[in-house]
Parts: sequence; structure tokens; C-alpha cells
Amino acid sequence: MHYDAIIIGAGIAGASTAYFLKQAGLSVLVLEKETICSGGSNPAGAFLSPKISKPSPYKTYLNNAFLFSTNFYKINFPELFYPCGLKKFPLDEEDAQKCKSYEPFIDIPCEKIPEGYFFPNAGIINPLKLCHALLEGIEVKEHYHVKDIDNFSCKHLILATGSDKLPIEIPYIKTKNIAGYRYDVRFDDDENQNFNTHKDLSLSAFYNECVAIGATHIKLSQVNDLDKQAQLDTFELLGKAKKLQPLKNLEILETYTGYRNTTFDYFPIVGALIDADKTLKQYPYIKTGAKVPTDSYLLFDNLYIHGGLGSRGFVYAPYNAKILTELIVNNKAIEERLSPIRLFQKWAKKLS
Ligand SMILES: Cc1cc2nc3c(=O)[nH]c(=O)nc-3n(C[C@H](O)[C@H](O)[C@H](O)COP(=O)(O)OP(=O)(O)OC[C@H]3O[C@@H](n4cnc5c(N)ncnc54)[C@H](O)[C@@H]3O)c2cc1C
Repeated sequence: MHYDAIIIGAGIAGASTAYFLKQAGLSVLVLEKETICSGGSNPAGAFLSPKISKPSPYKTYLNNAFLFSTNFYKINFPELFYPCGLKKFPLDEEDAQKCKSYEPFIDIPCEKIPEGYFFPNAGIINPLKLCHALLEGIEVKEHYHVKDIDNFSCKHLILATGSDKLPIEIPYIKTKNIAGYRYDVRFDDDENQNFNTHKDLSLSAFYNECVAIGATHIKLSQVNDLDKQAQLDTFELLGKAKKLQPLKNLEILETYTGYRNTTFDYFPIVGALIDADKTLKQYPYIKTGAKVPTDSYLLFDNLYIHGGLGSRGFVYAPYNAKILTELIVNNKAIEERLSPIRLFQKWAKKLS
């Protein structure tokens, strides 16, 4: 069969993209080198949290994605999404003052509570079940490792390979992998844990017969044995979690480890891929910093990317997938802040 779209990668980026393309009427095939949701999506909490900060394009993007995606999950996957809300506590007095200065800019439902802030729309979702649900009725070939894309025949090819190497060399796609862990735990009185809490790490509501502890702030980029590292870090991390909850008679049910894939500006990468060689050949003066209209950049034929989701893949992916689908189906432009254009420009500038 000749597919309208082939997606490489069955994490939350690939699964969401497949879902929206199918909804738009396209025939879709997903190729996955391991099994559905086996990459960075597997260890995710997956906490769905908004952001408070001073106004910035990133905060606007993040909170738009948060509102879109939580609503999307609520409507389409109510059995998987637990909208338990989030209590966010400032780290210390300095952080409390900072949060206070952000209050005038809070643009999502939020209640002030004595210890911090409560976001009633926040929640948690089961990553594995969600990826499977998004891919229901879509053809997925598991254990299919795409090593290069030269022989692919389809109208649209979408790379959603997470923190793994892309199956084509794109010199300007430069991202960083950051390691993190999740612990699924039980402790006395855990069933009364009715909302997510966040301080320097996140503790979930009681959900799926456990409480999840997400340590997403550990900036390890080079780790030889991540599972061993997780064991070494457990004492320190659970010590931090105990500041949120006494965790009496704690039992660790399972430890998950994995990598998040992050861009320099924290925006994901969504859109059509620029052919750097052809573009520089046509406009060599780009290297000297001369401006060329971005719609003159030369693109690969029907090649797209959905990646760089960082620590909020489950907040961003459905929102991005909708945007990418509108580009593919209706040729609706993607804002440059989100598209590969900004990465190409940053890379090209350094060539001079
Ligand atoms: C410990 C941890 C906790 C996190 N907690 C949260 C959270 O609470 N909330 C939240 O929103 N986000 C969280 N994240 C971030 C989130 O998990 C990621 O942003 C997201 O899962 C990335 O999704 P992805 O689809 O881009 O990548 P992945 O999930 O890694 O999917 C990529 C897939 O592509 C496959 N693949 C790669 N190369 C090829 C190839 N050549 N051929 C075929 N298949 C290929 C891989 O096997 C993989 O399955 C967390 C991440 C970690 C590591």
C-alpha cells in the first residue's frame, strides 16, 4: 500500500501526529524500532503542568499547549486522564517573591493557597496506555529500525525519533539529551493523595495504584549506566520528596529511567525540514549573515520533524501534532519560533 504519511517513532510525538493525520483523512503507517512508547515517553510521569513566569513567547506557547492538550485528553481519553490539579509550592522565600511578581501575568485557571498556588486543570496521564490509544486503528510496525530514509515512498515522511539519532544527517538539528527518573511508589496513606504537588520535584496524586515521583531536574547529559545512576541518586531524590510528603513505610514499586531531548530555547521543533546544502548553494551569502526571506529556503521533499519536546512532551505533543497536520493538509504556515527555521538560522550564522 502507498501511504499518505509514514511516521518514524511511536512515542508521544509520533503517536499524536499519527492520530491527527488519521483524523484528517490520511492513511498513516508508523514505524518503531522497539515497541510503542518505549523511548523517552515510557518513563514520563506523565504530569501535565502549566507555567507561571513573566510574559514571554515561551510561556504563551506552553500555556496554550497545556490548555489545548488537557482539553484534548479530557474529551478524547477521559478514562486515561486524571485531572487532579496541581499544588505548586515555591522553593524558598526568594522563589516565593518571584512567584508573587508573576501573579499579574497568570493566564490560566489558578487559585492562591496558603502554601503556594493551585492549578485545577493540571493532571496526570498514563503514557503507555495513551500512546496505544492514540494509535488505535493505525498500522504500526514494531521492531522496524529505520536506518536511512532514501528508499521511502510516501507523500509525507515525519521524523519523531525523540532523543535517538535522526535517520538522515541534518546538520542544524542540534539538541541535548537530559537524563531523568520516575519512581512509582506506595506509602502509608497514599490513597489520600488527591492532587499532584511540585516543589523541586513532582509527586503525583494516587493514580494507577501508586504515586509517581518525577525527578525531571537532574541535568545529566552523559551517563554510562543510567539505571545504576538512578540507584545511586535514589536516596537524595527521595529525601527531597520527603519534604513534600513524609512517605512513611515507603516501598518503591518500579524505577524508570530515560532521556528528554531539548533544544537551546526549549521550544520543540515542528515543521518542514530545510535542505541545508541546497539552500546554502542557492544563497551562499546566508553564511555572511545576509538576510534571505525564510519562504525562499529550499525544503526537502515532504520531510517533516516533530521533536525536541524536552520535559513536557505530553503537554506539547497533541498541540504540535494539530499544528503539523494543518501544515501538511492545509499548507498552514507554522510560526518560525517552533519550526526548524530558527535552528537553521542559528547554525548558518556560525558558518561565517
Ligand atoms: C524521566 C522522565 C520524566 C518525564 N516526565 C514528564 C512529565 O511528567 N510530563 C511530560 O509532559 N513530559 C515528561 N517527560 C518528557 C517526555 O517524556 C518527552 O518529552 C516525550 O516522551 C518525548 O516524546 P517523543 O515521542 O519525542 O520521543 P520518544 O518517546 O523517545 O519516542 C521516539 C521513538 O522513536 C523510536 N525511534 C527512534 N529512532 C528510530 C528509528 N530510526 N527507526 C524507528 N524508530 C525509531 C524510539 O524507539 C522511540 O520509541 C519526561 C521524560 C523523562 C525522561
